[in-house]
Amino acid sequence: MSRVDRAEPAPANRPPSIDRLANRPELAALCARAGRPLVVEALRAWVEARRGEADVGDATACAAWCQERLAPLIEASQRRVFNLTGTVLHTNLGRALLPEEAIEAAVQAMRSPTTLEYELDDGHRGERDRHVEPWLTRLTGAEAAAAVNNNAGAVLIALAAIAEGREVIVSRGELIEIGGAFRIPDIMARAGCRLVEIGTTNRTHLADYQAAIGPQTAAILKVHPSNYAIQGFSKSVPAAELVPLARRHGLPVIEDLGSGTLVDLERWGLPHEPTAREAIEAGVDLVTFSGDKLLGGPQAGLVVGRAELVRRVARHPLKRALRLDKVRLAALEATLRLYADPEKLARRLPTLRSLARPAGEIEAQARRLAPALTGALEARARVEVRAVRGQIGSGALPVDLLPSFALAVVGPGLDRLAAALRRLPVPVIGRIADGALLLDLRMLDDEPTFLAQLDRLGELAR
Ligand SMILES: *Cc1c(COP(=O)(O)O)cnc(C)c1O
Repeated sequence: MSRVDRAEPAPANRPPSIDRLANRPELAALCARAGRPLVVEALRAWVEARRGEADVGDATACAAWCQERLAPLIEASQRRVFNLTGTVLHTNLGRALLPEEAIEAAVQAMRSPTTLEYELDDGHRGERDRHVEPWLTRLTGAEAAAAVNNNAGAVLIALAAIAEGREVIVSRGELIEIGGAFRIPDIMARAGCRLVEIGTTNRTHLADYQAAIGPQTAAILKVHPSNYAIQGFSKSVPAAELVPLARRHGLPVIEDLGSGTLVDLERWGLPHEPTAREAIEAGVDLVTFSGDKLLGGPQAGLVVGRAELVRRVARHPLKRALRLDKVRLAALEATLRLYADPEKLARRLPTLRSLARPAGEIEAQARRLAPALTGALEARARVEVRAVRGQIGSGALPVDLLPSFALAVVGPGLDRLAAALRRLPVPVIGRIADGALLLDLRMLDDEPTFLAQLDRLGELAR
């Protein structure tokens, strides 16, 4: 635009210069936060929406409108929350919280080149899984180990590598759906295997496995029924009984442990969950489990077992598609290293620390925080300290509930209150059950932040 043009008076209906609008002091803060290009984009929309109007409106209203329009772009989409649902390994809230050692290792790996696939000794190419394999074999007793993207990927690649084009025998009692479209029959089909279902939903016997073995059989699969339990008149065949039968026929047994764990949780007063070592000791040839469930590390799928079978997994073309990046491998290695000293594990591994937290300590915390929540609710509802039961989550121990304590809000408008809690700067996620909004405090580690934002609750719940 020439100097002459600019000097001419603008006709009344000509749109104002977007640049001039963007320079308004009311928009300075938004420009600093969102960057000028996004503000200019929002201003164009604002002017467009007011086309034909005599003026573009009040500067404060304009700034507020732009702020609201840009909010989804300015704020991170994935946000920190308080998980007060009572479910420790909540899949929708990101499962395990990583130990500080793993966080540091991950940050380091993000900042620098690393020896991901490089041998310092001879300067040759190395295998990326060698960073975690020694720990996985040591902690499970397996001959070899590999790591992939998640346990769904581990099951997929194990089946594809061992049984593609052939039959895999599975008990009908173990044909599970984990949620998020992970169904054993579907995974089986994707791996290119034919599923041979045996037994019934509630009862499967060793003879059922025996009868199904034929010339096309490639493997027997056992699946830990993670998120449900068949009780009453039920029977499944433990791996230890299945292995001798499989051996006689020269077949491998693959077991999907789901969560799996590397240590016996009974040590911390928790119910028993099958360990990967127990499966290996029972003679299972290939065991798969998750990295971000009870193990307490980053998302990963671990495959441990006989060297020859793990090698087939590691060399399968899917391995390239499912491999872990350097950041998660660094976090996983650091997490596994903590298992070398089980005495200190409960202090250093947040998942275990949360699970082993004594109910009495949670109750004391609830009593301490109840008055603050009562005050924040401005007499709109009543707050009680209530004994509740939480869950490990992610399929571990589905029927065993963790004794805990919650701040229970009782009164009208619980849905609206739950929504207000979700709108706090660090959203608070609870659950509505038994006529109350329950905030299970097992996972509340950052009390100051929780307390500091409560004064906003009254205004949000109005
Ligand atoms: C959780 C689970 C899976 C899926 O594991 P991801 O790590 O979430 O992929 C598969 N099988 C069982 C039995 C599980 O419990």
